[in-house]
Amino acid sequence: MRKLERRKKIALIAHDNKKKDLIEWAIHNKIELSKHSLVATGTTGKLIEEALDQPVVKLLSGPLGGDQQIGAMIATGDIDVVFFFFDPMEAQPHDSDVKALLRLAVAWNLPMACDRSTADFLMTSRFMQEEYEYKLPDYTHYLNRHI
Ligand code: PGA
Repeated sequence: MRKLERRKKIALIAHDNKKKDLIEWAIHNKIELSKHSLVATGTTGKLIEEALDQPVVKLLSGPLGGDQQIGAMIATGDIDVVFFFFDPMEAQPHDSDVKALLRLAVAWNLPMACDRSTADFLMTSRFMQEEYEYKLPDYTHYLNRHI
């Protein structure tokens, strides 16, 4: 089991064509976001920090390793919820990193919103305000495959 505290560790990432969307959404949710701690890829983080006047832990820019940093934090339990506004209409130079991040979020059964309406649903979930305990996928069989 993994327990998420009331104060969630939220990751924010937006591709360039989606940054405006994410910033608008974040401003709209400023009060709610202030109750949680925020981490973001470099450029997204800088823009969110300016827009919300709230500290954001800024990782590397996405294509320079930031997506992979977020992926690693998902795997180690250092991120609870992901808001990833990716661009479905433009090829990204770091497509493999994008895929890896999406895959890890699912592999670890993490709540993740990839568009604005899903972000609204997720942000207004009562679990954002409460502790939330959930079952981690059981990878024992996989881990023991060579034993
Ligand atoms: P950025 O990275 O916030 O540094 O622009 C986002 C991404 O493209 O993954």
